[in-house]
Amino acid sequence: MDNQRLYILGPCAAENREQVIETASQICHLSLPFGHWSMVFRAGVWKPRSRPGSFQGAGTEALKWLAEVKERLGVPVATEVATPEHAEAALKAGIDYLWIGARTSANPIAVQEIADAICHLSLSISHLKGILIKNPVNADAALWLGNIERLEKTGMPVIAVHRGCNHRPCWAMAHTLRTARPDIPMLLDPSHMSGDASRVPTLMEKISELGLDGAMVEVHVHPESALSDSKQQLTPDEIAHLSLPICHLKDHDTKGLELNWLRAEIDEVDDELVENLAARMDVSARIGAWKKTHNMAPLQPERFHQLLERLRATGERLGVRKEFIEQIWERIHEESLRKQE
Ligand code: PEP
Ligand code: MN
Repeated sequence: MDNQRLYILGPCAAENREQVIETASQICHLSLPFGHWSMVFRAGVWKPRSRPGSFQGAGTEALKWLAEVKERLGVPVATEVATPEHAEAALKAGIDYLWIGARTSANPIAVQEIADAICHLSLSISHLKGILIKNPVNADAALWLGNIERLEKTGMPVIAVHRGCNHRPCWAMAHTLRTARPDIPMLLDPSHMSGDASRVPTLMEKISELGLDGAMVEVHVHPESALSDSKQQLTPDEIAHLSLPICHLKDHDTKGLELNWLRAEIDEVDDELVENLAARMDVSARIGAWKKTHNMAPLQPERFHQLLERLRATGERLGVRKEFIEQIWERIHEESLRKQE
């Protein structure tokens, strides 16, 4: 990618022609600094949904709506492919970027089949500008990297998209990939990373902080009535109010990036620690309720002794000092007893 950042904007799914054309026109007519960064319009045509019976996208017919956006508005278009047949149909329709979603990315056989199909297609694919690969639904950096290597065999530019797992970022996984392959552009997908439109603006700040190469953001004219991912889509107007970082940092500005990556990792670990503490206090309260109905005192010294023994051994295995474990669990246990009183 050149010095410009790439922003891929558009609805989760192509629902009907009017929604696709209207969303694309509104995005393209916003006073955004398009000259300073590259914009691509996205819409999913085949949607891999978790539950059967959910809206699965309008299918092959919707490729025509994307082709119309490309022709009328002069903007490159992107869609998700999950099979070799999808890739062939999308390329036949002139789609500029293909993306492989998180569910497909978890299956290396499916990714290989798509890569092979692109290599062996008889039709011309000279219009194809790149293949985007989301991280797998599970936090597996090796699988994500392996998928990049499979797709690179097509000879097309490959772009990684960090969309996190279970509606949260996986900075450790993204950092591993960034370190292994600093040459592969990485976009942020704050929509799937959060599942919540109100969290998108804060997540977008990570683009500058971590020197990412742009973002894929879900935008819908009427998010509240979207047929998929309605809670996480922004309106075109909301996108216009985000300050999207434009150019890449100059080399001399990138020195602090490694520290920012490490801080993103540690913030993620800290958040997990607090979430785990909340989960522990919740179980503790339920244990407290059980003890109360069975006339048992909250403090059971023998049980606490066993628990500490087990944690000291776990700490030893993981290189955490036993005095530190003891101090922390004295405090945690105190708080648990307070909950159970
Ligand atoms: C999408 O981009 O609409 C999508 C389905 O994303 P993911 O594969 O990241 O869930
Ligand atoms: Mn979506």
